[in-house]
Amino acid sequence: MDLLYRSTRNHEETALASEAILKGLASDGGLFVPDHIPALGCTLTALKEMNYQETAYAVMKEFLTDYTEEELKNCIRNAYDEKFEEDVIVPLAKVDGVYHLELYHGPTIAFKDMALSILPHLMTAAAKKNHLNREIVILTATSGDTGKAALAGFADVPGTRIIVFYPKGGVSRVQELQMVTQQGKNTAVVALHGNFDQAQTGVKALFADQELVQKLHAAGMQFSSANSINIGRLVPQIVYYVYAYGQLLKNEELAEGEAVNVVVPTGNFGNILAAYYAKQMGLPIAKLICASNENKVLFDFFRNGTYDKNREFFLTSSPSMDILVSSNLERLIYLAAGQDDKKTKAFMESLKETGVYSVTEEMQKFLKDFAAGFATQMETAECIQSVYEKTGYVMDTHTAVARSVYEAYKVEQKDAAKTLLASTASPYKFPGSVMRALHAAEGERDEFRLIEKLEEISGMPVPMAVKGLETRPVLHTEECDPETMRQTVEKLLGIA
Ligand SMILES: *Cc1c(COP(=O)(O)O)cnc(C)c1O
Repeated sequence: MDLLYRSTRNHEETALASEAILKGLASDGGLFVPDHIPALGCTLTALKEMNYQETAYAVMKEFLTDYTEEELKNCIRNAYDEKFEEDVIVPLAKVDGVYHLELYHGPTIAFKDMALSILPHLMTAAAKKNHLNREIVILTATSGDTGKAALAGFADVPGTRIIVFYPKGGVSRVQELQMVTQQGKNTAVVALHGNFDQAQTGVKALFADQELVQKLHAAGMQFSSANSINIGRLVPQIVYYVYAYGQLLKNEELAEGEAVNVVVPTGNFGNILAAYYAKQMGLPIAKLICASNENKVLFDFFRNGTYDKNREFFLTSSPSMDILVSSNLERLIYLAAGQDDKKTKAFMESLKETGVYSVTEEMQKFLKDFAAGFATQMETAECIQSVYEKTGYVMDTHTAVARSVYEAYKVEQKDAAKTLLASTASPYKFPGSVMRALHAAEGERDEFRLIEKLEEISGMPVPMAVKGLETRPVLHTEECDPETMRQTVEKLLGIA
């Protein structure tokens, strides 16, 4: 029997996994969720001997039940290959007693590669299964990171094209170079004369432009979205928690069945939700510790049951966590509400209309598996420095938010359980903030010089993603205004 997916806001809307992946969002604006969370299909002991790809298959086949074994194994093989600089895909580093799961050895040196390297393959397999003979066109607006991860994931995947808009002058030099030097015949990158909000609003308008949608259909194409609420991004993220547990058993760091805590630097709530799903599958996880930066809306929510986005927004040194609406939280709210679609819908409508909702006491009890904390920018920088002094290990700012929150949690709660920490970016991704935290920037502002200095200090080789970036040929020079995004898309797709 196939696992059925339902909209969090309307139980009547159902989809098979492949359909949910093609649609992204349910038509009522809800998120697709499995109608139950399947159990892990193998023993914990068996995990010890499984490599990353084998673990991926064991986990994903339970969720993506309408994919054949061959389809799924093909997707996994095409995703987790030499694009990752480490053969094990996600190495574990024991850093002063905490297991750091390094999710950043993919093409863009941040954890979004874990899901975005497989999503294109899941989508094209889904299109084939559903006899969709159209080419899939991904449109994305980016503030820097997601765009590059999506470009790298979709580059040269047959049956797909991708167009990324970024705000000209609104991303770092490294980020811009990463995008405009992207190879792949099916990729396009456009610098928008505007800010990120204008790029995002513009992309949303293109998705909703029925005339454009029809024009695309006539040309044998259709839009799709790669954003983080797609179930095809969530499911691949469950894998690394299961894999890490197997490795900890294998290395005799854990006894079989021993529960670990998991701490995750959180923004949109996708990564930590994947850990929660892993726990529901039967992986021995004790606490899920949700770490925020100064945008601590989740901390307040777990503390008092009220989600309130009406607050000041801070730009911090951990920009990928600068978020006030954590979209994937809806999937947890849905479970806490006893899988009640009407209640979930009411909470989300309240959020949309007033920016606030409060959950019931009963729901708060359901959330007791979660702990939460936040770290200021100062605490984050101090944590990078102190861990480096003690161990020589260099963390990026996002990872350091999690480490800082964990250190405080351990003292406050006197919880001595072994702990797995999701390390979400390479320090080479944020060389400015990292080098300043280490008091080693010496006024240098050029990111490439800072990268060289970081290599000297850390002894960690510069990853392929940024090595030689300065001298790579620029392949994308398209620019446009917010008003001409549609014409630009039509031109790039050859349907003007
Ligand atoms: C996206 C991102 C996060 C936040 O992950 P969510 O799944 O959105 O909670 C944390 N760290 C880095 C480096 C990221 O890119």
